[in-house]
Amino acid sequence: MSLNAESTAFRSALEVIRAVEPRVADAIGAELADQRESLKLIASENYASPATLLAMGNWFSDKYAEGTIGRRFYAGCQNVDTVEALAAEHAKELFGAAHAYVQPHSGIDANLVAFWAILADRVESPALRKAQVRQVNDLTEADWFALRRELGDQRMLGMSLDAGGHLTHGFRPNISGKMFDQRSYGTDPATGLIDYDRVAEAAREFRPLILVAGYSAYPRKVNFRIMREIADSVGATFMVDMAHFAGLVAGKVFTGDFDPVPHAHIVTTTTHKSLRGPRGGMVLCGPELADQVDRGCPMVLGGPLPHVMAAKAVALAEARRPDFAGYAQRIVDNAQALADGLLRRGATLVTGGTDNHLVLIDVSGYGLTGRQAEQALLDSGIVTNRNAVPQDPNGAWYTSGIRIGTPALTTRGLGTAEMDATAELIHTVLDRTTPGTGPDGAGSKAKYVLDPAVAEQVGKQAADLLTPFPLYPAVDLG
Ligand SMILES: *Cc1c(COP(=O)(O)O)cnc(C)c1O
Repeated sequence: MSLNAESTAFRSALEVIRAVEPRVADAIGAELADQRESLKLIASENYASPATLLAMGNWFSDKYAEGTIGRRFYAGCQNVDTVEALAAEHAKELFGAAHAYVQPHSGIDANLVAFWAILADRVESPALRKAQVRQVNDLTEADWFALRRELGDQRMLGMSLDAGGHLTHGFRPNISGKMFDQRSYGTDPATGLIDYDRVAEAAREFRPLILVAGYSAYPRKVNFRIMREIADSVGATFMVDMAHFAGLVAGKVFTGDFDPVPHAHIVTTTTHKSLRGPRGGMVLCGPELADQVDRGCPMVLGGPLPHVMAAKAVALAEARRPDFAGYAQRIVDNAQALADGLLRRGATLVTGGTDNHLVLIDVSGYGLTGRQAEQALLDSGIVTNRNAVPQDPNGAWYTSGIRIGTPALTTRGLGTAEMDATAELIHTVLDRTTPGTGPDGAGSKAKYVLDPAVAEQVGKQAADLLTPFPLYPAVDLG
């Protein structure tokens, strides 16, 4: 019997790798096996298509292509131009954007590109103007001093970390927190929702240069029309980081006020989360910021990764197919089924539910920390990650939340019935886990007790849930 194209491709690739370093080939094979066996509820992960994966493993990796399409600092970039232009074209069509910059290597890098573009566009600094017109050699010591001071004084208003904002929106562990004078808006303690009046108030008081919307752990839609009005009212540039929910925008689940592209001055994203592409980033903007955005490399990015841009072009072409909208809608249907299943069994959810791809369980309702819950679930074959909840009493390390998301399992084909079964498994584990004690006999935030028989039973049920939905069904590594 002849093998299908995917199986032949991956088998051959592994054979070639095995001849050089068999342990790498083994690890790649083991990774597929592990992913096939795990009930993956990590909200930021997905499974890219074989075509997307294969587009990354080739000669494009060998090419330097600093610059932009048609204006490269290296010779011989005509084929890179082709794939970069294709990726940008698909991105513009898919999201209805005037300009797309597909070089960023990751979400963090896309945000750095956007921050620099906004600073360069907005900050009134004679020294910066000189630097921009490539008269860098003309800058005096005093110019440089002024430049650093003027850039360092700029303000950013973004969503607080514990409400679901991202590190790159001005928080200390990321350079954005050192570049900007940052303040954040949280959520209403009673509802868990963004209170737009409070955001407007914070903007009026703080007068940020940049207002950022976007999140990695907020289970609701954001009204980008209102956010833009707030930005306009204080003269801020409105940036949306749609890293988590780009797939829902692409699939037209988020439209109108909830589609960031028509409302934001600039939109950044990853390509590997709900969008289901290769690991990478992207920036979308109007014509006003396009030139600054295109300076991303070498301003803040290393040389572009042409092999990943090729994969972005493939994945974006897939996202433009009609069936992607169905996928996006199923992601949300599944998240809501999971949320309903958990609520019915007595779990506490931040905001009481979801209207996107993720659910945030407040596991303090089970008497656990996020760390304990995460480990107990992992012992039971369920892969999630701990996450802070608003005003988290356990801080960012132990946390009180478990974040779960449906993009990956939806790609596998699981539906609402399986989500209800998944809710039952999660509830069972959390309900049967109790906090452990530390060496001094006091309560521990890390240790926990879970009957191994329960973990084993749930693990078996989780595996059974996956059996009818094989991952990469066309790929047989033999
Ligand atoms: C995941 C994420 C990022 C970072 O993406 P990387 O590719 O890991 O750098 C940035 N912003 C938000 C909102 C994210 O969720």
